[in-house]
Amino acid sequence: MPVKTDNRLCTRCVLPENFPGVKFDDQGVCNHCQQAPSASEVRENVARLHDEMVAAIEANKGGRDYDCIVAYSGGKDSSYTLKALTESYGLKCLAVTVDNGFMSDQARVNSKAVTAALGVDYQLFTPAWNFMSGMYRQSVSNPELHSKAAIKRASAICNSCIGLINVYMIRLALMHGARLIAGGYIGGQVPKDTAILELNLDIYMRTREATLGRYESSFGPDTKKYFDVPEALLQTANMKKITILNPMLALNVGEEQIIAELAPLGWKPTLDTGSNSSNCRLNDFGIAMHYNTHGFNPYVFEISEQVRHGLMTREVALKKALSIPSMDEVRWQAKTLEIELDAVK
Ligand SMILES: [Zn+2]
Repeated sequence: MPVKTDNRLCTRCVLPENFPGVKFDDQGVCNHCQQAPSASEVRENVARLHDEMVAAIEANKGGRDYDCIVAYSGGKDSSYTLKALTESYGLKCLAVTVDNGFMSDQARVNSKAVTAALGVDYQLFTPAWNFMSGMYRQSVSNPELHSKAAIKRASAICNSCIGLINVYMIRLALMHGARLIAGGYIGGQVPKDTAILELNLDIYMRTREATLGRYESSFGPDTKKYFDVPEALLQTANMKKITILNPMLALNVGEEQIIAELAPLGWKPTLDTGSNSSNCRLNDFGIAMHYNTHGFNPYVFEISEQVRHGLMTREVALKKALSIPSMDEVRWQAKTLEIELDAVK
């Protein structure tokens, strides 16, 4: 399983020449950097998104046990999101972690500490291991599972996992009548300008059949339990839409500041999750598989976006983008998932 890291990188961000759709000019600057907004445009855009987010929060607050279901991994970005929504915007949040079987011990400690310090209700959901491990095995072996756009932003195993988590959050929102769902996604992880998204539930129910069918044929008969939103739940909830918030896009804070602000809540950096994650021990495996199939680090787009937004120095970005997953970790992860590494092309 060779890992390629010798590609030419953009001289401004760290996108490699083999990233889909990337073109370099004579100075070695990529098309994304050439089209990037200026620092003042970024500031204006963030300020506008922030105003829109505050308006969405105010419009959807109150009257229920929970205003917002927060997809909470225990990692730094979702911890910061939970802190901001609770302390700065006064939302009643339910923090929910889906433990995929690879949650780091430190992330577990962090999530308990942070939710306790913030006085937030916390729910941990652990889907059956046989389903999760089967889903990951299929994600590695089936290249048709996710769209070409999705694999630019995350590894196949991350995409499957995120899909499962998203559906679980929608189910909880419907169960509790919460009109908001929030995640800790940062720039580059989700499409541009998605700090606030309106999820029209009618359209959602009509358009997800194709994905559900594809997942069901790959992941087996339990798929609906994890990836379907039952019609009956929708009827009972009597909701037309859910507003999805990605507050990090409207807050635009860098890693150092995030870690500094989380420290008083008892959040500590994890040491066992590789250089691109602060919650999941499967992450390096996803990166290794992605390198192997596509030849680039699945985090390189978001890392580059952080550089363009002035939230990360190119030096730090280079270190993250070029970090090769520890093969000891990858072997342990493969063994845990019962995947023959030699059989991976
Ligand atoms: Zn660039």
